[in-house]
Amino acid sequence: MLMQFQKKVLIIYTGGTIGMVETEDGYATKSGYLHRVLGRMSELFHSGMPQWALIEFEHICDSSNISIRDWSAMAHTIKDNYDAYDGFVILHGTDTMAYTASALSFMLEGLGKTVVLTGAQIPIGHARSDARDNLIGSIIIAGEGRVPEVCLYFGKKLLRGNRATKVSADEMEAFASPNFPPLATAAIDIRYIDALVRPRGEKLNVVDFAEDLPIAVLKIFPGIQFKMFENIMTENLKALVIEAFGVGNIPQYDAELLPLISKAADNGTIIVVCTQCLRGKVQLGTYETSSALKRAGAVSGRDLTVEAAVTKLRYLFAKRCSSERIKKYMETDLRGELSE
Ligand code: ASP
Repeated sequence: MLMQFQKKVLIIYTGGTIGMVETEDGYATKSGYLHRVLGRMSELFHSGMPQWALIEFEHICDSSNISIRDWSAMAHTIKDNYDAYDGFVILHGTDTMAYTASALSFMLEGLGKTVVLTGAQIPIGHARSDARDNLIGSIIIAGEGRVPEVCLYFGKKLLRGNRATKVSADEMEAFASPNFPPLATAAIDIRYIDALVRPRGEKLNVVDFAEDLPIAVLKIFPGIQFKMFENIMTENLKALVIEAFGVGNIPQYDAELLPLISKAADNGTIIVVCTQCLRGKVQLGTYETSSALKRAGAVSGRDLTVEAAVTKLRYLFAKRCSSERIKKYMETDLRGELSE
């Protein structure tokens, strides 16, 4: 008789609503609490579940406080435990979960195992919490290991991490992947769409991001006074992500912007244009209102989320790519983050 070995999943707890308790100042993390709750959840010890262990970060936090150093800690915890576990679940606050998922998708080069980020909109100690469902689904998916990618599981959908974005502050289906279909959906079975899944990496390597990279995001709105941004668009600025209208358009009424952008480009600042729209992609040059951006040397972020754009920039700078290569790679698919 063949023995079926139980899979092993490592849960990395970084903070977030999932493990929060009520305090006088609102919800806050409490060390040791989540571990105790999980230890009492009989579902987590069901014979159909993978075996699991939990590592709690020293500074579990509201994910609004997540830092580049925390991303490195997550990536290295995975690397240090890579051979001992079949898959990994990262418990994380929802506010910046899509940023962390994007960041890890770039940091974990050559990933061959499943990394699932999840959390909850309602703390696990509440009767109506979504934590149990998100957690149990994530542990099963990580143990099955059919998707060797950094993913985000929430509200019964498994999304590619670097395609995900938080779309609701208060609904249980808080995340969407507007430009890419879910990799799996949990119904009676977990239905994977294998054709969408990226190939398994062979050797894991962690790329750490610099903590002090000066980059900025500029959201365009009608009436914007571009001269307000002159002070940040100096030669110190390494990259600027512009959240433009529609397919990449910006207002033409203000004669200040284009000289500023040309100057930034001359300074060597990488300018990436993303769209404010949830769906669709940037196509510079379709309208007069975007042609000048193209002439000024901006590159198209195509259908990158802003989360993916800023973390991809960090990755390319961490790899010490030349400006020309960064521009080229920003328009090239590296981890399934962009449709070419
Ligand atoms: N503020 C919380 C966080 O991001 C929200 C949540 O987890 O849902 O940590």
